[in-house]
Amino acid sequence: MLKTRITEFFGIERPIVQGGLMWVARAELAAAVANAGGIGFMTALTYPESEGLRAEIRKCRQLTDKPFGVNLTFLPTLRPPDYPAYIQVCIDEGVRFIETAGRNPEPYMEAIKAAGIRVIHKCTSVRHAIKAEKIGCDAVSIDGFEAAGHPGEDDVTSLILVPLTRDAISLPIIASGGFADGRGLVAALGLGADGMNMGTRFVATREAPVHEHIKQALVAHNERDTRLIMRSLRNTERVMHNTTVDKVLEIEGRGNTRIEDIIPYVSGMVGKEMLEDGDLEKGTLAAGQCMGLIRDIPSCRELLDRIMLEADTLIRERFAGVFQT
Ligand code: NAD
Repeated sequence: MLKTRITEFFGIERPIVQGGLMWVARAELAAAVANAGGIGFMTALTYPESEGLRAEIRKCRQLTDKPFGVNLTFLPTLRPPDYPAYIQVCIDEGVRFIETAGRNPEPYMEAIKAAGIRVIHKCTSVRHAIKAEKIGCDAVSIDGFEAAGHPGEDDVTSLILVPLTRDAISLPIIASGGFADGRGLVAALGLGADGMNMGTRFVATREAPVHEHIKQALVAHNERDTRLIMRSLRNTERVMHNTTVDKVLEIEGRGNTRIEDIIPYVSGMVGKEMLEDGDLEKGTLAAGQCMGLIRDIPSCRELLDRIMLEADTLIRERFAGVFQT
């Protein structure tokens, strides 16, 4: 058992967070993480309509009586989402935690806070963490350059970002980006975080609702098998390397890229198909450098048990006697 400000904050047993994962973070996964003692966030935009999110929240409640949350990502999209409708569903359904990401959630803070929902803002720089504290967020998830998906444009790794964020704000902090095992958890705490977030690692679990080929690919790939696409649009995304990614990079290399030039390759709908049919080349798939640390496909319970044991052993045995008086 590890008691930190993050376990207290969420009312959970283990300081481990499964943050929003487009298409993947559905009720099955969030509930499995919750039942294993961590907390999972379902990604609102996975459901094209807010009513889809409502049904999924209800499904999650059937699968667990433990806390879970909803992720709301504000990044450029091909289909502009009705954010107020998603927020209203969270309020109606009694969701207690919302993870915001991608952009400053300030326009929605009043409505969310008035409903008593706590906001965890996921961001990729110290300045954005400071801003999150200023506008009334309750916790910050700080995402290093190692991360899957959108790691921002500053390219600062977790090793630097987490302690700098600790120095800059007083809110509870979740370290994100590059974390996949018990060593990562101990490192996160050592760097000043109160818990760790994992994304890619949770996609390679038995409960993740994705094709087996995707899970096996996460095991087979290593830490060098990611690429950064959409850098030219200042909307950088870290994805698993494949032939489609090479095509996107080739187009971007020509210069003056417009989103229209790469839509057929980067579209989320194609990514959704990949996750369902297991075709590894069809489009682009967010994945982090921590693929190098992923060697199996456990259940969420097995994964969290292992992480806690590894962290505990590390603290008790590896560090015992290191410091000589
Ligand atoms: P989508 O099909 O709408 O867009 C595909 C990709 O193109 C996304 O990365 C999106 O950000 C980007 N994009 C779209 N319009 C753009 C524009 N005008 N300029 C620059 N880039 C543009 O995306 P989707 O798969 O339906 O996902 C919905 C949202 O969830 C997107 O904003 C996406 O970025 C986000 N998402 C976030 C993460 C994460 O790491 N937090 C991971 C996956 C998806």
